[in-house]
Amino acid sequence: MSAGAISSRRKKSPARRRDVEPVLFVVDHDPMSLDVLVSGLSRRFGKDFTVRGESSPEVALVALRELAAARRPVALLLVDDAAFSLLARAHRLHPLAKRVLLVDRDYSSTSPAVQAIMLGRADYHLVRPWADDETMYRAMSEFLSSWTKEQEPSFEEFRIVASEGDSKALRLRDVMTRFSMPFGSYPVESEAGRRLLREAGLEATRLPVVIRYDGQVSIDPGLPDLARAIGVNVNNDLDTCEVAIVGAGPAGLTAAVYAASEGLETVLLELAVSGGQAGTSPLIRNYPGFPHGINGGVLMERTCEQAWLMGAHIVFAQQAVALERRGDERVIRLLDGTEVHARAVVIATGIEWRRLGIPRLETLVGAGIFYGAAVSESRAMQDQNVFIVGAGNSAGQAALHLAKHARTVTLLVRGDSVAKSMSSYLVSAIEATPNISIRHRTEVIDANGHQALESITLVDRASDTVENVPATALFIMIGGEPRTQWLPDEIARDEQGYLITGRDVLEQPEVPWEHHREPLTLETSMSGVFAAGDARQGSIKRVASAVGDGATVVRLVHQHLHTDTPERA
Ligand SMILES: Cc1cc2nc3c(=O)[nH]c(=O)nc-3n(C[C@H](O)[C@H](O)[C@H](O)COP(=O)(O)OP(=O)(O)OC[C@H]3O[C@@H](n4cnc5c(N)ncnc54)[C@H](O)[C@@H]3O)c2cc1C
Repeated sequence: MSAGAISSRRKKSPARRRDVEPVLFVVDHDPMSLDVLVSGLSRRFGKDFTVRGESSPEVALVALRELAAARRPVALLLVDDAAFSLLARAHRLHPLAKRVLLVDRDYSSTSPAVQAIMLGRADYHLVRPWADDETMYRAMSEFLSSWTKEQEPSFEEFRIVASEGDSKALRLRDVMTRFSMPFGSYPVESEAGRRLLREAGLEATRLPVVIRYDGQVSIDPGLPDLARAIGVNVNNDLDTCEVAIVGAGPAGLTAAVYAASEGLETVLLELAVSGGQAGTSPLIRNYPGFPHGINGGVLMERTCEQAWLMGAHIVFAQQAVALERRGDERVIRLLDGTEVHARAVVIATGIEWRRLGIPRLETLVGAGIFYGAAVSESRAMQDQNVFIVGAGNSAGQAALHLAKHARTVTLLVRGDSVAKSMSSYLVSAIEATPNISIRHRTEVIDANGHQALESITLVDRASDTVENVPATALFIMIGGEPRTQWLPDEIARDEQGYLITGRDVLEQPEVPWEHHREPLTLETSMSGVFAAGDARQGSIKRVASAVGDGATVVRLVHQHLHTDTPERA
């Protein structure tokens, strides 16, 4: 141990395997401050973690190398900004460790924390001096608990046995993850997988197999079977309600929270599992209140639980396939042939985003890979090399915006030109901006990086060459389509299929508004049917704005119920 090295002084009970305990590693250039930190953290977390500290980044790196060689897990690296460059190297040695940057109080945009967090080079930051030790301990507990959650579960509620690379197993794992179910995956090629099948009395002829902790077996289950095994509702037990909401993304879930909490009998219908697009996002960085970002699945799961506790009837794996007006009622038909009769309907079915469909790239969403979001991330791109996939106006605007901060911006375009897909004023502005370049006939085929993007693999279709290029960020702007095809013609949509609402409805000659009052702000051309979130024309396409729509629409539903059905006033 070096002169600047400090380690936990707490006495351990003899039974504890100290050599396997996860390590909480602190690097602080100031030996006095290091001493205070290590002893404080040892007192608080020493029961479960060994706390070690170094004042020299070089010596710290040697120690971290030794820990990696000994396969000793490092749960957390707490590094002051003087040793910031150590984080990347330490992270390569201990990719699962949470990286916390310790910075001095400086809320200017030049603080090292701003870029480190935005680019996924640190997971969290701590600002010192802190008001009291409890504030720091609370933050550290949260960081450590997020590390603990990512470790293999000690209890597996479900075991999935499947052939390696089976895409059906991928879908099962996705559903389990979206419902936060602790599960284990066992390839049928492994001894453990074969043993599980033997114990369940099964052959490996039909896979995948899902075995619940109590022995219940599902063979090649569909979404409804799996949802039932997990314990969620897939059948609608309420065929008449005051408000029916279609889609359980952020807009629909928020509408359900508000509607149910305000006493409306509420049914929420979802074709898959809750969370929508937001639920698939590993890290939502711009949702207010979460400075280090929040896992979209976690945020949506909490909102879903809230809607349920407020009294909403939530039905998963139920697709709405038709909607019609019957007198005062709006009737939704479901794929299983049943109907839901409601006084008001909220359509929150979102967009089917086009994805690049590259598995490694999807795991880096929020950590250098962004679907849309260029404006909000642009400051963090200071002096970086960034790429944009897309050839439309949004890609062009993003390029110009990012070029103000980034060193280079490269537009990756599949075709020979952007002239057909991008407005000419944008094309001219791009040509006049020296740090923007366009690579035509080029596609992204892979992305690399431990927890944060480091490089992308490009294929040049003109020369048929493949190249790996360093990249800090990749913005994907290839559009999507609103999921509104199932709605009747009476509900006006624009050319792209987005739902037209409010006073804009009055400008749709082919769908005349036949009501004594004007349409309410989020009301569609069918009175009593509202739109919320991404599926609405003019929506902002962000989680927070979808949540805002979800809350707003319930006020409008009340207005409709009170003015259009006087007996309820
Ligand atoms: C990869 C990715 C990353 C993103 N990251 C961010 C981010 O970091 N920050 C941010 O603010 N925004 C982000 N967004 C955008 C954000 O996720 C969306 O703006 C938001 O989810 C829109 O919410 P919504 O409720 O309107 O629709 P959605 O989230 O799309 O939810 C719609 C729901 O309706 C269901 N549905 C559709 N049709 C039917 C039907 N017929 N019957 C029953 N159910 C139906 C769908 O299954 C889905 O669950 C991201 C989007 C993507 C694709």
